[in-house]
Amino acid sequence: MKQTINFSQFIDAFRDHNRLDNFTYDGLEALFDYLEELGDDCGTEVELDVIALCCEFSEYDSALGCISDAGYDFTSEPFECPECDVVTYNNARQCEEEECGHLATVEQHEVWEEDQELAALEYLQDRTSVITFDSGIIIQDF
Ligand SMILES: [Zn+2]
Repeated sequence: MKQTINFSQFIDAFRDHNRLDNFTYDGLEALFDYLEELGDDCGTEVELDVIALCCEFSEYDSALGCISDAGYDFTSEPFECPECDVVTYNNARQCEEEECGHLATVEQHEVWEEDQELAALEYLQDRTSVITFDSGIIIQDF
């Protein structure tokens, strides 16, 4: 018999397995929505296996956080110096061109960081299922 569970039963199942700390509350919500959608897509409900879900999915606070924690081979986005157009890869705070040495403003650095996050997200999306939500991401391990 096909059994549909609601979000509070979903939470209960994680609690019963002592796995509530595997994901944040927001993460669980996002995962629940994702699985529900999967069920809709294939016309079958996804069977709830808490342990399998904990093995299969991991939550991170950002795509970049995921990449650095898991040690994926990801190349940073270049930072183009607004003064001399020289491109820097590993240090987006100061231009690597000696004569220039332009210090990135906080705003410029923030833009660069946002670019990194987007690039990191694309990197992950190219390789696996990624669930994004306001306070983080969950990826299907690969
Ligand atoms: Zn420069």
